[in-house]
Amino acid sequence: MSSARKFVLLGATGSIGESTLKVLRKHPDKLSLVGVSARTQAAKLHSIVEEFDVSNAHLGTIPSDLTEFPKTTNLGHSLEDLEALASLPEADLVVVAIVGSAGLRPTLAALKAGKDVVLANKESLVVGGSLITEAANLNGARIIPADSEHNAIHQCLSGKKQDLDSIVLTASGGPFRDFPLENLSKVTLEQTLRHPNWSMGPKVTIDSATMANKGLELIEAHWLFGLPEEKMEVLIHPPSIVHGIVRFIDGCCLAQLSPPSMTFALQNALLFPERHQSVEASLDFSKSLDLSFYPPCYDRYPCLKLARDCLSQSGSFPLAFNAANEVAVEAFRVNRIGFVQISNIIEDTLSQINAIRATSLDELLDLDKSIRSVAERCVENQEG
Ligand code: NAD
Ligand code: MG
Repeated sequence: MSSARKFVLLGATGSIGESTLKVLRKHPDKLSLVGVSARTQAAKLHSIVEEFDVSNAHLGTIPSDLTEFPKTTNLGHSLEDLEALASLPEADLVVVAIVGSAGLRPTLAALKAGKDVVLANKESLVVGGSLITEAANLNGARIIPADSEHNAIHQCLSGKKQDLDSIVLTASGGPFRDFPLENLSKVTLEQTLRHPNWSMGPKVTIDSATMANKGLELIEAHWLFGLPEEKMEVLIHPPSIVHGIVRFIDGCCLAQLSPPSMTFALQNALLFPERHQSVEASLDFSKSLDLSFYPPCYDRYPCLKLARDCLSQSGSFPLAFNAANEVAVEAFRVNRIGFVQISNIIEDTLSQINAIRATSLDELLDLDKSIRSVAERCVENQEG
């Protein structure tokens, strides 16, 4: 890489944001941060701006005790400001590390401006897969996957998409992998947030426990690699060392292995196609390695089955799955519903929806809103 790649980091204060900053600290000669965003946590965003001397920032809320940002920083607050940051003229690359479907609009803005996007925000592809891939194609922009499983597939494929037969996405199985099924109804938020392998933000940690996360990832993979539902396998692999496997048409399989830390996938995506020294130590093959895999059971992970069904139906069912899941996860976080009710809310919501199809951004946003109200009514019914 001749000169430092200039990038914008959306969702800088979150878990993926932090891992991205670790990669930046390791490679200051190869990467340069020109814009950052966060929804809240003004003080944390402020310290990132100061540490990396960032000229453009976005804070989604304006707290009363807003920290004094440097006068040289161009600070925005509106959704339009966030889209402008995502399409900043001086940026080559935009890392989308926002959580939830809120990532859709800035992702689209970045691609429409011809920026390469390092995508951690799987929900945006689930909600607007066809709009996003079309925007990338029309504007000659690349979507480089940063989600560890998709980054693994991207690495194994190395451009040989025409020889691809099928893929395997691995899953840790979350904190309740071996938990007695009959006790799942009693698990607490605190237990759910205790992921065995990964340290991540709260939403994706809850999604990992229900495996709604793997469901969203199947839909994400469908858009990234053009595969139908039946060509994508999910396997539980407890230690999270093998992240993804590609099976080629000649029957040969390639897998990508690295320790369970997002710095590996993020560095690979940020510096693609180059490889440089990692932030953290690689695997130690002199120690015994668990390479076991087994298929997930839908009685334990009903959200995974619901996501598969949504993917195989035509129309906007993946959007509905995501909207209902976001509402249900939030309801669980504030103790309105229990853990097992997350899948009930998604199932109830989906059962109330007939044929749906949204294509334009406005239609997608309207549909997302109306499905959220259906899901909200389902939460109220479950509460009552
Ligand atoms: P997080 O909750 O830790 O951080 C989210 C970031 O997005 C924060 O900076 C927050 O301020 C910002 N944000 C939240 N809501 C927003 C909104 N409405 N508008 C604008 N900004 C908003 O989340 P995370 O764990 O870092 O996950 C981010 C994304 O990456 C998710 O889509 C997740 O599924 C995906 N992902 C995360 C991991 C992981 O290890 N954390 C791994 C793979 C994929
Ligand atoms: Mg993942």
